[in-house]
Parts: sequence; structure tokens; C-alpha cells
Amino acid sequence: MQRERVSDGVYWFQSDVYAQVTAGVIAGPQWAVVIDTLPVPEETLKMRAFIEEQLKVPVQYVINTHYHADHAWGNCFFPGATIISHQICRDLQIQLGPSSLDSAQKQDPLFRQIKLVYPHMTFNSGNMSLKVGKKNLVLFSTPGHSQDGISILIEEDRVLFAADAFLPVPYFVNGDIDQLIQTLKSFNDLGLENIVQGHGDIVLRGEIENMIQENVDYLECVKKKVRAALKENYPKYAIQNITIESCGKERVTLGGLGNTLHTNNVSWLLNKYAEDEGIELLDIPLEYMDDEIVDV
Ligand SMILES: [Zn+2]
Repeated sequence: MQRERVSDGVYWFQSDVYAQVTAGVIAGPQWAVVIDTLPVPEETLKMRAFIEEQLKVPVQYVINTHYHADHAWGNCFFPGATIISHQICRDLQIQLGPSSLDSAQKQDPLFRQIKLVYPHMTFNSGNMSLKVGKKNLVLFSTPGHSQDGISILIEEDRVLFAADAFLPVPYFVNGDIDQLIQTLKSFNDLGLENIVQGHGDIVLRGEIENMIQENVDYLECVKKKVRAALKENYPKYAIQNITIESCGKERVTLGGLGNTLHTNNVSWLLNKYAEDEGIELLDIPLEYMDDEIVDV
């Protein structure tokens, strides 16, 4: 696990184990707020030990930025804390959590320690604010990656914990690409010093404007190319030409995961557009396939 001090009393953590997932801590004089948990129990427990032993405060609140397991399944390691999220996040955890935890536990004994703890306090519309010592945290909706997504702005420091609304390769499977574009553009108006991405490294002030634009351009490019592929005879074949590089991103991002995110984005969006327009997607004819695909 990596750890860095972002500003006074504000720390950032990054998983070494899975997909460079990040989490945050804002510590006040009496207690601390945790933003998201880490993907494996050991790392979440290390983060808690740092807060309790080095910062010498207990964790009073844990904020879940969205319902995804890699950010929210560590709730159970903060037994005294109040868990905060968007109302939809709580609903989705209740609806999807038990079956996905069940299958994760069957695949990997690592997850046997996990118990689902659902958010205790939620908000539905508007913002929510939380005062930690002298700092004001503003929690607000940033949908697109997922419907329930929220980000946290530390007002005094102009540090935004954007969670998965900001990733090195934007990801919108089971979310909404147009909402994500709106969310990203809205970050331009916040006068930010840092953006803490949900995965990957911290974005510094000088890079923010360009990275927002690059992410918006990526999403617009994917939209345009998937729309064009839908007009072809065999859209499922046509989307194979939509490479991550052709949309302005590099495939090595997030230790190679970036390319997987990209191909999932493209095929999910193709299916969505086809469904919206009532177009039936034909399977790729054998003569169109290259050897690699036929062999499988
Ligand atoms: Zn996520």
C-alpha cells in the first residue's frame, strides 16, 4: 500500500494489490473521516492502523463514494464508524452485495473476512457537508461511472476526491456516458489544486485542465466511433478497430487494465445503442474472423 500526505491532515492511500484503487483520510483534532476502503482486508486494516496509531484519532465516518466492491467492502473494518453514502449507493449495496460477495467468497478465501455493512446515513438530492476540525467537506453527486457516484471536495484545500468519476481511462459500463461527460466538465469550475482519482495517481493542478479535456475527448471519440460502427453490416466486427490508441489513451494505463476498461466500454456502448434503436446485432461471420478468434 502506498501512502502520501496531500495537505494538512489529508492523506491518500493506494492499493498495491488490485487496480491501484485509492482511498483517503481527513483527520481533525478528535476524529477522522475515511473516504472509501481498499480492495483487500489487509490494506484497509493497515490504513486504519495508520490513522489510530500515527494520527492518534478514531475513525468517526466512512464515506462510500459508490457501491463497487473494490471501494466499499472494507466498511466492516470500521465497526464504530457511521457509514455515509448516496441513497442509491445504499440501495445498490443491499440489492447486489449479497450475491456478489457470495461468489467472491467462493473464488477467493481472502473475502471470507468480509461482512457487508450498509451505509447508515444517506443523502438523496443536493449536497451534504461535514465539518472536520477547520475543514469543510462537501459531498455531491457525480454520476456517470455509476448512478450512485459522489465526490468529496475539501473546500479550504481545493482537493477533490473524485473517486471513479475520474480515472486514467474513463469507465461507464452500467453507468451513463453522457452523464460522465457532464460530470467531468463540471470539475473545470471548481478551482482545484488536486484531483484524487478513484484508481491511479493524484492529478496535480498544472495537469487538471488537460486531463479533464483528454477524458472528455476520449468519451466523445468512443461515442462517435461506436455510432459509426453501428451503421456497418457487422458492428461487432467493426468495433474491433476502435483501439484505445485511436481514442487518445494508452493501453498500458493502470498496469494494462486500461485496455480492458476500453474494450468493455466499447462493447457495452454498442449493445446499449443497438438496444435503444432496436437494431439486432448479427454475429461476426466466420470469414470475417481472424485465426485468433476462431481458435477460441
Ligand atoms: Zn467503480
